[in-house]
Amino acid sequence: MRIRAAVLHEPATPVVVEEVELAPPRDSEVLVRVAAAGVCHSDVRLADGELGAGRWPIVLGHEGAGVVEAVGEGVTHVRPGDHVVFSFVPACGACRTCRAGRPNLCEPAGERGVAGTLMDGTSRLSLPDGTVLQHGLMTACFAELAVVDAAAAVPLPRELPLWQAALLGCGVVTGIGAVRNTARVRIGETVCVIGCGGVGLQVIAGARLAGAALIVAVDRDPAKLELALRRGATHAIDVSTGDAAAAVRKLSEGGVDHAFEVVGRAETIRLAWDVLRPGATAVVVGLAPKGVEVSLPAIEFLSEKAIRGSYYGSANVVAELPQLVAFVADGRLELGEVVSHVAGLDGVEAALERLRRGEGARTIITVDPALAGYQSVAR
Ligand SMILES: [Zn+2]
Ligand SMILES: [Zn+2]
Repeated sequence: MRIRAAVLHEPATPVVVEEVELAPPRDSEVLVRVAAAGVCHSDVRLADGELGAGRWPIVLGHEGAGVVEAVGEGVTHVRPGDHVVFSFVPACGACRTCRAGRPNLCEPAGERGVAGTLMDGTSRLSLPDGTVLQHGLMTACFAELAVVDAAAAVPLPRELPLWQAALLGCGVVTGIGAVRNTARVRIGETVCVIGCGGVGLQVIAGARLAGAALIVAVDRDPAKLELALRRGATHAIDVSTGDAAAAVRKLSEGGVDHAFEVVGRAETIRLAWDVLRPGATAVVVGLAPKGVEVSLPAIEFLSEKAIRGSYYGSANVVAELPQLVAFVADGRLELGEVVSHVAGLDGVEAALERLRRGEGARTIITVDPALAGYQSVAR
């Protein structure tokens, strides 16, 4: 079938919204009508060719939600009409890391994600001339319809508006998961969050939910720092106004228990290290371009400082989603406030541009405004 989708033909060229061909779902796959999708900084990395060669032409978009339109053979967990959020790691459940209880690191899903295919190693997307298109992070939801692996379609309660639910798919799971699963922040601990965009604001929400006593937000955009304070940060530091590391260490009386880097740059990863107290850990959530290296003062390993990565919130999305939805339902987690811009499918390129400039938090693309439930909200 012919659908409209946001296609990246070549890195560093604008994303083009055009008609593409989408083949029907095969066994163990689901066809989803996309309601809404968030534009994430990882989309910028892909669009700018910073994650390595061979990742285009591609339909971008990995944070989204929609309504099941059809299911392939063997799909039993969802039916047409069900609301779903996309998981961009449709874990196989059988590989070494899946069996070890770390489905976010599923080996075949990781390989297919880089290859731009679905789990069976092929694509359902092509240009009208037959050129095969890659599926952005196995999701490709900057499109009217998406075919995903069954495990990538996670059921949602109907009460949650889909423009908000879309955020769960990447930002919320990644940010709150980094706090709860990767760092395991405990009540009364101190936290620093470097980068207050769509994911960083979720890290802040996670730290507040975890009972952190001090949450220092660091960014270079005053508007994002404003949002960070509204989301539960206790202090905000503008890096452009001086020595941010010294300021964080002063506020936390010698350094924080947990630092989260949510930018993906060598300087900010180093900053996360520099704000730690002895024995504390820096968690790198931000996706850095391929080839970026970080240097650390090795003498400081003496103080048992540590640094580790966090991918997709170290989460088991299927198991944890109901809890996140419950947080939203009882008002402990507000989703809409991180949304700084709303646009149609034609607005993807402008949203990528804003992210390149470090401007605004999250743009939500309402692919189908009625389905997204956005039109009823006065913003
Ligand atoms: Zn993302
Ligand atoms: Zn696996």
